Amino acid sequence: MKSLHIRRGDTVEVLKGKDAGKRGKILKVDPVRRRVVVEGINRARKHMRPSQANPQGGVVDWELPVEVSNVMLVCPGCDRPSKVKRVRRGGKSITRVCKKCEREF
Ligand SMILES: [Zn+2]
Repeated sequence: MKSLHIRRGDTVEVLKGKDAGKRGKILKVDPVRRRVVVEGINRARKHMRPSQANPQGGVVDWELPVEVSNVMLVCPGCDRPSKVKRVRRGGKSITRVCKKCEREF
């Protein structure tokens, strides 16, 4: 399975959709479906029926996953949404290198 260039904790900028232009932190990565969950992005609301766990019912909101192709990784070096090269530096760890400022992260 090919891993994604985006990891949990990264900051990304949204390219498409209602949250285009916003930035958020990656909360979850799903490499199989190539989707990510981004803090504060693609929020959805659902009305819940009262249940034992939540006797009042009510409105719950949370973030829906977005396609990886709709977000771009923000480089911590130059603070711009950037394409990255992935470089293997010995062992199994992969270092990402910003194509704009050459910063490794
Ligand atoms: Zn950079």
